[in-house]
Amino acid sequence: MKKSYLGVLLIVAAAVVAYLIWSQKEARSEQEVPVVVEESGPVFVPDPKTKYLKIPEQATFGEFMTEQGVDPAVTAAIYEVALTNYDLALVRVGRRLDLQYDDAQDLIKLSYDIDDQKQLAVYKEEGLWKAKVQAIEYKITNKLSQGTIDSSLYEAALAAGLDEGLVIEMAEAFGSTIDFSMDVKSGDSFKVLYEARERDAMPAKPGRVLAARYINDGQSYFIYLWTDDKGKDAYYDEQGRAALKRFLRAPVAFRYISSGYTNNPRYVGGQYQRFTANHLAIDYAAAQGTPIRAVGDGRVSFAGWKNGYGNVVTIRHDSTYSTTYGHMSKILVKNGQAVGQNQTIGLVGSTGFSTGPHVHFEMIKNGVKVNPLKEIQPPSAPLSGEDLVTFNKQREVYQTELDK
Ligand SMILES: [Zn+2]
Repeated sequence: MKKSYLGVLLIVAAAVVAYLIWSQKEARSEQEVPVVVEESGPVFVPDPKTKYLKIPEQATFGEFMTEQGVDPAVTAAIYEVALTNYDLALVRVGRRLDLQYDDAQDLIKLSYDIDDQKQLAVYKEEGLWKAKVQAIEYKITNKLSQGTIDSSLYEAALAAGLDEGLVIEMAEAFGSTIDFSMDVKSGDSFKVLYEARERDAMPAKPGRVLAARYINDGQSYFIYLWTDDKGKDAYYDEQGRAALKRFLRAPVAFRYISSGYTNNPRYVGGQYQRFTANHLAIDYAAAQGTPIRAVGDGRVSFAGWKNGYGNVVTIRHDSTYSTTYGHMSKILVKNGQAVGQNQTIGLVGSTGFSTGPHVHFEMIKNGVKVNPLKEIQPPSAPLSGEDLVTFNKQREVYQTELDK
């Protein structure tokens, strides 16, 4: 009697400690108590029979379960039954894994976050283990954030308390309009409407960017999320035209130029150049090995070594345009291969006439090298019919929020 009471007490204590560790990591420094009470908000009381855990570093699933005191035979049974849904050998460091026990302290359920949308649940039903994948439940509220740019969008966004993933998503949505490494001016500003999410009454990673306005050099640009009837999300401008046009503005994704370099523009006057009479290209400085992406759909018309350019790829997009990407450390496409917009075609290097790792990026229009930053792209076709009607309704809702 006394022994089982002690056992329950230990489990409760372990759950509270585990929850404390988990909640601190989840919410960084803000939340330190296991029970969060907001004014008239939800209250999450941790279940004393559940251990709230995170996969630690360098642990296999089996080792982790043994560490938690689970019988290896039970671990094996869970692994087997889960396999058609998810291979638990692939558990990732830092992901949440909960273990739930019954009154007799027998394990009755395991839940594991496959990503931030889906969860694997392995549970005992009438003595048999069963498994399913289910959506993680979040409480979603729309939230508005804004900031003014001093040096980079990345810094301004983080200063405004935006999650890194959100900054990247917003920047990518503007990927055909603004090159955040080259076009950003001091005094530019942004406003972003996004899904703030809570899980078990604790702040979680935010969801999607719903709409945003970016004012670049006095000019306002907008993006609005719209989900088509097949459930596919994409961003559109205020007239219902796809935000991503024929070409992306930069051959290096924002997520790579942002991380690690947050102070200055990505080009440097002497070493890396903008478009000039002597240099009919844009040079993007980026770390060795950074992925280089095709700015638009097309077919590889050259992939190999060329004097000066080093390892170089040229993509023909249509009868008018082609683009060239020089100094690669590695080429990842073959001559004649079809490539899609945003597809990785090689890695940043310093081959050929180059003094440091960068991408030498050229745009050729009707045989003439043009400045890709100045090239005005034809707008994509707008949504039409019923799609445009539902898009406009959604856009108006978002616009009201953005105008606040
Ligand atoms: Zn160059």
